[in-house]
Amino acid sequence: MHEMAICEGILQSLENIRAKENFDKIKIVRLEIGCFSGVETDAVQFSFDAVTRGTFAENATLEIIQQNGKAYCMDCANVFETNDRLMPCPRCDGINTMTYGGDALRIKDLEVV
Ligand SMILES: [Zn+2]
Repeated sequence: MHEMAICEGILQSLENIRAKENFDKIKIVRLEIGCFSGVETDAVQFSFDAVTRGTFAENATLEIIQQNGKAYCMDCANVFETNDRLMPCPRCDGINTMTYGGDALRIKDLEVV
């Protein structure tokens, strides 16, 4: 499962941060996931619990922050936020839009003990 590999990467990052900051346990991990990243938030939640079991990050709460992408309207040059690739331009109602961004997958911050 793709999300399992992602969570192993997250755990690796958490270990790196812990090596530097020297905390005991993690209470909350805030993860930013872009709406166009192709990552299933439910699967990430499930995989995170599985991957962290028996580690210092066990029982940490994973908070997922959904990040919108943007769209550019080729008819009127409007730029707007969206999480839907097929959303028409809110200004001119045009459908000649191009989405970009919204592909983030990163640890935003942590609360540690
Ligand atoms: Zn437009």
